[in-house]
Amino acid sequence: MPKFKPVRQLRVSEAIIEQLKESILTGNFKLGDKLPSERDLSEQFQVSRMAIREALRKLEHAGFIVTRQGVTGGAYVTELTFDYLVNAFVDLFLTDKISIPELHHVRIIIEPEVARLAALNITPEYAQQLKEALEAEELPIATLSLDVERKQRAHFILAQMCGNRFLEALMRSLLKLTKRVVEAVNPDVDTVHPKGMHCSVVKAVVAGDAEAAYEAMKRHTLDFGEYFIKMERTYREKNTFSSF
Ligand SMILES: [Zn+2]
Repeated sequence: MPKFKPVRQLRVSEAIIEQLKESILTGNFKLGDKLPSERDLSEQFQVSRMAIREALRKLEHAGFIVTRQGVTGGAYVTELTFDYLVNAFVDLFLTDKISIPELHHVRIIIEPEVARLAALNITPEYAQQLKEALEAEELPIATLSLDVERKQRAHFILAQMCGNRFLEALMRSLLKLTKRVVEAVNPDVDTVHPKGMHCSVVKAVVAGDAEAAYEAMKRHTLDFGEYFIKMERTYREKNTFSSF
């Protein structure tokens, strides 16, 4: 039988989260501020320290705070970034609520558009970054994780270049999720994502040719997707939710 948490307790932690979020969003606690200690919070809210801990854990996962250990330890307000979105997508995937084919479908829609926008925003600095990213892809493979990072670098740069932070955030989460899956399945990277796969995309982007960038990225996403979709089954077989 599954063990359920008492509903009342959950409501308590949700109510605490709501109040803490509100005081952060309205500026009562600013970036870098330390929240009151667990003991203080449990006295103010008149709840157990466990409920406070649970609320703080969720707030940290949502990207509102970061907890530090040691003498100056505690919960500090962080700059809210899109990282919480990344975590949410990863969680949805791990709990089998997003599949690789669905992830792939979204990448096909978004990535060509990101590449198109990137081409419109090309600068000498970005051109240099993309060139370096391509060069890094040619280096010998040390570990799978490093190789995936190198192969994703061009994608991250394009996401940063696209000029739409929402699209950038979506791209970042899609890439992070992709990395997680690839690392778990541990395929032969040279087969899944051979070197030079980004050449035509980068060439078009650097040339400022938006339509060519769109088409080149679409081809790349489709090519990669073929292998990527096949990974779904292997991934689910290797990992059960309990291992996370
Ligand atoms: Zn790629």
